[in-house]
Amino acid sequence: MENFLGVSEANLKQTFSEWDVQPYRVHQVFTWVYHRGVRDFALMTNLSKSLRARLQETFCFSLPSIREKHPSSDGSIKYLFELEDGSAIESVWMPAKDRNTLCISTQVGCRLACSFCNTASMGLKRNLTAGEIIGQIIKVNEDTPEADQVTNIVIMGMGEPLDNYRPLVDAVRLMVSPEAMRLSTRRVTLSTSGLVDKIKDFQTENLHVNLAISLNATVDEIRDTIMPINKKYPIEVLMQALRNYPLKPTRRLTFEYVLLEGINDTDDDAKRLARLLRGIPSKINLIPYNAHVSSDYRPPPQERIFSFQNYLMSQHYSVFIRKNRGSDIMGACGQLAAQSIS
Ligand code: SF4
Repeated sequence: MENFLGVSEANLKQTFSEWDVQPYRVHQVFTWVYHRGVRDFALMTNLSKSLRARLQETFCFSLPSIREKHPSSDGSIKYLFELEDGSAIESVWMPAKDRNTLCISTQVGCRLACSFCNTASMGLKRNLTAGEIIGQIIKVNEDTPEADQVTNIVIMGMGEPLDNYRPLVDAVRLMVSPEAMRLSTRRVTLSTSGLVDKIKDFQTENLHVNLAISLNATVDEIRDTIMPINKKYPIEVLMQALRNYPLKPTRRLTFEYVLLEGINDTDDDAKRLARLLRGIPSKINLIPYNAHVSSDYRPPPQERIFSFQNYLMSQHYSVFIRKNRGSDIMGACGQLAAQSIS
């Protein structure tokens, strides 16, 4: 039976047309499911009995189950979810003054083998379905008091989102659709390691969520080593695609830059980064490396991090040093690997 959570409006319209059911019924079913939280077709009293029965025969409601929950001393919580086939994935809920952000996964593991990333050590086990992607948000909201509900999504947990293209697009469409989860496109951020062909495909989807690029190096020799995807899409090819990326007025691309001591943290790197981003409306997040067992890298000392930031700021970029939220629970950037830590 197909999981209803994750079925797109377009696909449900198609199914209803095959069943000879009026398209406006899609709106009614979505309202029950996403706005009223009803997970039983029998309770959808404005639908005919025969339609309810048919929906019940065709679809189920399946959510990931919470296997473990690890609160961090900084207030964030890492969820270890179990999927129907027993696979495990992780999501991290991070509260702040004006928002509650959830970082979600799109794959069980990842095949892109970035050398600084703990998820890479798993390899790719499988892609998530659209239902499993949005299921993380629904489940965290069910587990969270009204005042702490998720307001922002960052799609930068386990996996390369654009390597799981169709389910990712269906899930993002459900996140921002007024018929479904009703999140503003400004509150959803998709992060990619730079799959250029998929970035080009994604811009035709008219979804207009924020795009973040995990860049992490300014020369191909280094990026080839730490992010092997760079051999397929070298820096110049990636930057060209980003220069052509259609941004709405006032929107910017985010560049994520994991700082690795002695690898990519020199003043020359900062200068090259400033040159690379010239002309692209951008915001830069510097992420001091979060230690984990799968690699020997270290974060640069504080003064190096500040020097890197100061140079970029002197070149009029918005540059933020990202706090290592959840690092004590292995929930910070690059640390997720669906391991039990209890
Ligand atoms: S950093 Fe992202 S793309 Fe690279 S291996 Fe980790 S999860 Fe995959």
